[in-house]
Amino acid sequence: MSRRCPCGRRTFESCCGPLLAGAQRAETAEDLMRSRYTAYVEGAVDYLLETTSATTRGSIDRQQLAAYCRGLRGMSLRIVDTVAGGAADDTGVVEFEASLKSEGRRFVQRERSRFVREDGRWVYVDGDVQG
Ligand SMILES: [Zn+2]
Repeated sequence: MSRRCPCGRRTFESCCGPLLAGAQRAETAEDLMRSRYTAYVEGAVDYLLETTSATTRGSIDRQQLAAYCRGLRGMSLRIVDTVAGGAADDTGVVEFEASLKSEGRRFVQRERSRFVREDGRWVYVDGDVQG
């Protein structure tokens, strides 16, 4: 039985599953963004840390992140806009709208995120929350 990927695109096994398992790398910034959304709702804390830029990874509190993920449920993800971030690019921007539930309360997070390649791998740098 194959379940739908939390990011909503395909089955988990043919979408974010192999990325979270480390069997495959994200080809595009959008793939990485989708896999990070999935990692948040699956509680894949190590994956979230590994796919954060080395410059900001140190400022993340692992326990706090794990606790946040535990209380989180993903409802849906919508990609609003992408700039570059393709297989031939070194930087990319992905704007997304994530519908989430935390501690039973539903909310929408809209963010314009920046991604770069570090040693050939896409990583998340930071983002601007969109009002
Ligand atoms: Zn996915």
